[in-house]
Amino acid sequence: MAASYKHIFGPVASRRLGRSLGIDLLPFKTCTLDCVYCECGRTTDLTKQRRDFFSPEEVLTELKDWKEAGNEADIVTLAGSGEPLLALSLEKIIKGIKEITNLPCCLITNGTLFTDPSARKAAMLADIVMPSLDAADEATFKAVNRPVEGLSFAEYLEGLELFCREYKGHGKIYLEIFLVPGVNDNEDQIKALSLLSRSLHVDSVQLNTAVRPPADKDVRPIPREEMEEWARYFIPRAEVIASYHGSPLKERRAVSEEELLETLSHRVMSLEDLVEAKGYPLPETEALLKKLLEKSLIRRRTQDGKDFYYV
Ligand code: SF4
Repeated sequence: MAASYKHIFGPVASRRLGRSLGIDLLPFKTCTLDCVYCECGRTTDLTKQRRDFFSPEEVLTELKDWKEAGNEADIVTLAGSGEPLLALSLEKIIKGIKEITNLPCCLITNGTLFTDPSARKAAMLADIVMPSLDAADEATFKAVNRPVEGLSFAEYLEGLELFCREYKGHGKIYLEIFLVPGVNDNEDQIKALSLLSRSLHVDSVQLNTAVRPPADKDVRPIPREEMEEWARYFIPRAEVIASYHGSPLKERRAVSEEELLETLSHRVMSLEDLVEAKGYPLPETEALLKKLLEKSLIRRRTQDGKDFYYV
């Protein structure tokens, strides 16, 4: 039976990175924001207080165990149950990841803590940083991202600008912009976001929309054609994040109930995601999902005709 981990999940199908081994440094769900589109659901601990939620040793011991078991992935990604920069020992953890795996490290962050010099120093060690920026003004920031009290758009932007300037030459920055219908999918916002992305000198801009079940059920995905139109406002043209293109696993392997539950506790996934990213056999995984649903151990949400599963 595959080992069950508290911090490590996946590899999961990442539309942008291939097979990405996730490392989760936070208890569910700890963030500086409570985005309407968040696929993890509502933020239960809305905070900007950086601290160690778990010891770095605990996290790195799991990773060592995973590596020694002969597992493989394309990249290690810091993401999961909230904002990774909230973890105070992030610098130590990234150094440890590189020593243990020799894999590139990606940091998915909302960028709101970049005003803190020690947070910027830790993020500087990542090979890819994916910050998000969904708004060009305070009102839209509040509407889309619902920040923790005391976090202003001006402060957020100032930190992001500082980080992008200091990080230059260290690795790649892929800025993600999440479009929410009726909130930030209008010409004024998109033009302003395009200008901001240029002044930040990011390596690319990626446009996303709610293709997975969001925190607020009313948030709908924007049709692909419309997203492609908005992409034209960016120079160079933004990429509309497409479906998963990771390298397939060499062989299919068995999946246990315990492992499936552990994976779904970190991320909302469809049957296709589980089969493509994990190499699980389709019929067995389908049967297991049905069994877990019957036992009420997981739940299902349908979006645009596709079923997604989560704990
Ligand atoms: S989408 Fe990211 S930044 Fe927004 S609430 Fe979820 S975890 Fe936090």
